[in-house]
Amino acid sequence: MIAKKRDGHALLPEEVRQLVSGYSAGEIPDYQMAAFLMAVYLRDMTPEETTALTLAMADSGERLQLGGPGEIFVDKHSTGGVGDKTTLVLVPLAAECGLPVAKMSGRGLGHAGGTIDKLESIPGFRTDLSIDEMMDQVRAVGAAIVGQSADLTPADKKIYALRDVTATVESVPLIAASIMAKKIAMGADAFVLDVKSGRGAYMKTEEDAVRLAETMVAIARGTGKRAVAWVTGMDQPLGYAVGNAVEVREAVLTLRGSGPPDLTELCVVLGAEMLCLGGVERDLSRAKARVRDCLESGKALERFKALVKAQGGDPGYLDRLAREEVPEGYDITPALAPKDGWIAGIDGGEVGHAAMGLGAGRERADQPIDHAVGVILRKKVGDQVRRGERIADVIAQDPERAARGARRVEAAFDVDNDPVQVPPLFIRRFDGA
Ligand code: URA
Repeated sequence: MIAKKRDGHALLPEEVRQLVSGYSAGEIPDYQMAAFLMAVYLRDMTPEETTALTLAMADSGERLQLGGPGEIFVDKHSTGGVGDKTTLVLVPLAAECGLPVAKMSGRGLGHAGGTIDKLESIPGFRTDLSIDEMMDQVRAVGAAIVGQSADLTPADKKIYALRDVTATVESVPLIAASIMAKKIAMGADAFVLDVKSGRGAYMKTEEDAVRLAETMVAIARGTGKRAVAWVTGMDQPLGYAVGNAVEVREAVLTLRGSGPPDLTELCVVLGAEMLCLGGVERDLSRAKARVRDCLESGKALERFKALVKAQGGDPGYLDRLAREEVPEGYDITPALAPKDGWIAGIDGGEVGHAAMGLGAGRERADQPIDHAVGVILRKKVGDQVRRGERIADVIAQDPERAARGARRVEAAFDVDNDPVQVPPLFIRRFDGA
């Protein structure tokens, strides 16, 4: 099978399954799997092989079935970007519009934050619900957001760890199968996929992002599920806030209709896609209007508070958080524009690393994080600035780390001499119907 892939031939679905189950069971050693993964990296996979790989990984552990007869569960996934707090908005928003959501989310590693870390900045919030507790909560309040179960897709965990040390992470079929195996094992019926493209994203070029989106939609189709994918721009962080508590705050503002325009628009579009896939609405423009109404009326925020309360958190904390931008004991250090001009780009990777350096993220999985630190952008792409003007605020406790963070944030900004066109947030849509 290694030789077959090395020579550019497609494996049969049964062969792919045999490889995955053999590797999971410890019958195929790491060195052979590593060689196979490198052959895939160089030779690619057909849609049939990619679907077979996805299903084999999904079947390697527990597989949930969320909905009963007649119920449709829609999951959403983002390939991850800096400042991406859409899950915190979309889950209560969809629930408020009549679509129950059971969401499993991850922690952050490296420069991109994780939804679970953000939620744990809410005092008392529990993310370690059992599957039964999660489903009871979904029935009671319409939504739950929990940490990843250790029992799902063990083959993906093992293969991902091997890819990480064999320079085989950046392969579209391997990434697509890894993401979709976890989604399928979670048991949803349909998926809304947000594939980020740009400097702050996993996929740096539009071409790669488009391939990933097409591949994931094809996997959904090949496994009898529905999916809609959007390729969206990540040439700057999403919204203004990057960190944990600061991102929850921005999500709260968005949930009551006063969030940043880019984040709000993304949540409206992805939320409307979820409602249509879930059969709650038939028409995207009506669904968008309903979603907007839910945000502007404050009802989506009430639903988020109900979710927070059900998971042990203090809903009153969200009101206090919305009122104050900087927590007690923390200071703001400004990042300043290096010259007169227009903001042409903000490297999300650099801003994410700056936030990580402040303590908002971790380099190793066992590191603690400081939920209160972060970066708030004051300017976005297209804005005009004067030399020395404040372009971002760094929130930190330690003045030395704050100063280092501010310099790094400054370096993330490109300032042009001429006005710049703001790049589109929505690049392409793929519908797997
Ligand atoms: N995220 C995943 O879950 N898997 C990959 O391979 C890449 C990103």
